Amino acid sequence: MDPVSTITGTALADGELTEEQRRGAACAVCGTRTSTSGAVDLGRHHDPDGVRLFLRAHPECVPGAVA
Ligand SMILES: [Zn+2]
Repeated sequence: MDPVSTITGTALADGELTEEQRRGAACAVCGTRTSTSGAVDLGRHHDPDGVRLFLRAHPECVPGAVA
């Protein structure tokens, strides 16, 4: 899969996601909490160690994303 940085269009370093970001409880880009409504599903990814990530972000944090 594409790196997170490619998905979000930001310089998001692998391995620097918080636990909340990794499970979609917080925005993968800015790190603040996502709400159930209005969050963009960035799809399922795996980090370099093969750990499954479930990434979500605020629509305003992912230019061009379809909410
Ligand atoms: Zn955000």
